[in-house]
Amino acid sequence: MFSLENKAAIVTGARRGIGKGIALALAEAGAGVTVSDISLEDCQKVVEEIEGLNRKGLAVKCDVTQKSEVEEMVKKTVEEFERLDILVNNAGIYAPKPFLELTEEEWDRTIDIDLKGQFLCAQAAAREMAKNKWGRIINIASIASGQVGAGVLASAHYCAAKGGVTGMTEALALELAPMGIRVNAIGPGTIDTAMTKDLLADEQVKKGSLARIPVGRIGQPEDVSGMVVYLSSDEADYVNGATIFIDGGYLAG
Ligand code: NDP
Repeated sequence: MFSLENKAAIVTGARRGIGKGIALALAEAGAGVTVSDISLEDCQKVVEEIEGLNRKGLAVKCDVTQKSEVEEMVKKTVEEFERLDILVNNAGIYAPKPFLELTEEEWDRTIDIDLKGQFLCAQAAAREMAKNKWGRIINIASIASGQVGAGVLASAHYCAAKGGVTGMTEALALELAPMGIRVNAIGPGTIDTAMTKDLLADEQVKKGSLARIPVGRIGQPEDVSGMVVYLSSDEADYVNGATIFIDGGYLAG
């Protein structure tokens, strides 16, 4: 079950963190994987790890806010693997700022990367997937997406972007289903990556977070990647338009 043999995937923001974990897990399940990020730095190292699994990888520089770079990423993937089956919209930033101090530029930057970037990648990828009448788009949202009982301080711009991701996921799930494409989102809780390093370095914050996580630990990238493999598989054909939270039970608390 969950074999991704002969499939080709793109993971954005994959040079480290959750994206890297996803790229390796997709490769382990059999897929060829394009490892892309805003800078090529470290992408090639992830590709070498993929090759160590006897799978194929391709490192591509792509700023997800730039339509031309997104289209080039899809083109290079199809040239390398002769197809595109899976897109994981993972690239993102989290730049917390108290609402009254948040500038228009900071608002725009977060919305551009965390929301518009997912639109651009999904559109370019879906056009390719539609040719084969099969595709999987997995959008990385967050528990900070709203409507789930977890507001996040100093994060109006991030929450707006991630809430937009879950809304867009549902809309695309309807529109792309007739083309054989399934679209789902994953909302991680607190995962131990560079993004949360500063936050978790504050012992008080870490203690507060742990107190609300029933499983009693901060998540690791591997906690997210298994679900991505499942959602990418044939077995997930009937899962569409869902947002699945991977948070150790945080939202249940
Ligand atoms: P990381 O910062 O470790 O990884 C994100 C990657 O995305 C970085 O390599 C970053 O590059 C890259 N990136 C930033 N801007 C762009 C861009 N314009 N185009 C392409 N790539 C870009 O974060 P995580 O692995 O923790 O986060 C991955 C995803 O998971 C994000 O969407 C995040 O919002 C989401 N998430 C994370 C949670 C967590 O607790 N860690 C919780 C909930 C959701 P650079 O370093 O150069 O900025």
